[in-house]
Amino acid sequence: ARSFGGRRIALFGLGGSGVATARSLIEGGAEVLAWDDNPESVVKAEAEGIVTGDLRQADWNGFASFVLSPGVPLTHPKPHWTVELARAAGVEVIGDVELFARERTAGAPEAPFIAITGTNGKSTTTALTAHIIAASGRDAQMGGNIGRAVMTLDPLRADRNYVVECSSYQIDLAPSINPTAGVLLNLTPDHLDRHGTMQHYASIKERLVAGSNTAIIGVDDVYCAQIADRLEKAGKEVVRISKRLPLTDGYFADGQDLMEASHGRYSRIGFLEGIGSLRGQHNAQNALAAVVACLKVGLDLGEIQSGLESFPGLAHRMEQVGRRDHVLFVNDSKATNADASAPALSSFSRIYWIAGGLPKEGGIEPLRGLFPRIAKAYLIGEAAPAFSATLGEAVPYEISGTLSAAVEHAAHDAALDDGGEAVVLLSPACASFDQFKNFEVRGDAFREAVAAIDKVKPIGG
Ligand code: ADP
Repeated sequence: ARSFGGRRIALFGLGGSGVATARSLIEGGAEVLAWDDNPESVVKAEAEGIVTGDLRQADWNGFASFVLSPGVPLTHPKPHWTVELARAAGVEVIGDVELFARERTAGAPEAPFIAITGTNGKSTTTALTAHIIAASGRDAQMGGNIGRAVMTLDPLRADRNYVVECSSYQIDLAPSINPTAGVLLNLTPDHLDRHGTMQHYASIKERLVAGSNTAIIGVDDVYCAQIADRLEKAGKEVVRISKRLPLTDGYFADGQDLMEASHGRYSRIGFLEGIGSLRGQHNAQNALAAVVACLKVGLDLGEIQSGLESFPGLAHRMEQVGRRDHVLFVNDSKATNADASAPALSSFSRIYWIAGGLPKEGGIEPLRGLFPRIAKAYLIGEAAPAFSATLGEAVPYEISGTLSAAVEHAAHDAALDDGGEAVVLLSPACASFDQFKNFEVRGDAFREAVAAIDKVKPIGG
């Protein structure tokens, strides 16, 4: 962290990534005073040579910056007092993405930097972009909200491509974020509990694309469409993408074809046909964003198409885990509420749907329009009674109780379906905590139950 050399930095949060961030600041010549409310973390950090001290007792006037470690929310009650103290003393409050951006500007401004945000699809787009770059033989460094903390990525170099997923929180703490290509996928009024108004939430996300050389914006929702118009008027290079509209200029999906539009003339630049890991209209948005970002950092269309085709997909997000004859088994355990289940239910038909768990407010009512795609539902966990009431006469269902019973029954019924491809889909529209430690454990349990079925061919790893 050369750009912090000789400066005093306060840092809160000494988990793994906080320690790595502190270390890199110290190596760059900064004088760091770090703290955590967990005494064990403090002891571990000291063993790593990090100077620790209770920031409540510190003289805040001596600090140039206050770095909040990734994973410590601004509103976390414990560091809240430190944020107040820092602000009262006029000390800037920043995060690790800001440190990364300043390092890059100071040391390797030509290093390609792709930053990705949006309400949904961030991890998929980030993983896909990094995969395409790596598959082309280039050095891809993926981090941020997915994978490694940004300060633990390999040192900045002009021939390394940094692909960073940014949550709103990370953008909020990165005032000078300046990616080569900034991606804003979509904005929907989720998470408003954490961000206050939609306007505030959108304005944080807008900062990422406003700071970028090229702003790649999904214009399928009204908030993002307005942001694209506003940035373009302000003179920024804006590239619009759409998963459904034939744009005059930009990139859009026409079914499974990826199209470029220039002054109303179209050309086909790639396709998603046959790529199991990128099924569904929502993935067309993710793929288009990745394609344009890769073009902006110098890949050609051939390299990009071959990267799309070899993308393994992310675990627990519409992950294809097995097949037996005409039956496909799909793990979408990440879908912990109705909105998150909508893309998977929209991407398939003849669905044998395993749903339930710890219910969220609103239940599955928002999915009613997708009920015709469901051949039968297999309800598990605490949500089963409420979900069965919503399904009512519209969808046949059983109360399976456990995930393993649901998999067994759904596999049996789907095998008897003679209408073409049938899909046994775990997309619970619920949290997992009534029966599992987290959504990953739930998804793994599904994968294992599927693998245990006679004659199932596993897909992927
Ligand atoms: P994030 O990192 O933003 O949470 P992920 O890539 O992990 O997003 O995807 C999580 C879930 O969100 C997916 O399983 C899918 O249901 C949904 N999703 C993914 N991409 C999109 C998109 N572009 N638009 C809407 N929903 C999406």
